[in-house]
Amino acid sequence: MIIDAFAFARNAESASGEIALSALPRVDVLARDGALAWSLSGLIGSQSRPFLKLDVQGRVQLRCQRCLKPMEWPLALASTVWLAPSEAEADLLPVDVDEFDAVVGSDCFDVDALIEDEVLLAIPATPKHDVCPEPLRIEKDTAASPFAVLKDFKRDH
Ligand SMILES: [Zn+2]
Repeated sequence: MIIDAFAFARNAESASGEIALSALPRVDVLARDGALAWSLSGLIGSQSRPFLKLDVQGRVQLRCQRCLKPMEWPLALASTVWLAPSEAEADLLPVDVDEFDAVVGSDCFDVDALIEDEVLLAIPATPKHDVCPEPLRIEKDTAASPFAVLKDFKRDH
């Protein structure tokens, strides 16, 4: 979607929709079927700066970097970006400002590209399962379970 970003912020407009994962080629996911839900709203913040607030939600398939098996990862990002009037002004934003990022605004602003950039930033560089599936270890544990010990105990007495 293409918007006039400055007018969008000035008029406090909002929009929402879905974007297919297949439309986000730079995002490295294992499955390209499915879509992410997004919503965008414009506002004027402190020092009369124009901002866009973006929310993106959905589920993506990543590869666990510990066991290399697929894992489903819930994406839920909320970011605020300042629409800088130029690249030079965007670069002037101090790096210690962490409430928002700077992007260069324009009257033909590509919302899909913004969504892709923000999703790229939100996805973990080394995704890992909380607990990796390890079927071989579970079988070993079963062999030495308390029930096996109990069986021996009964036979001895
Ligand atoms: Zn894993």
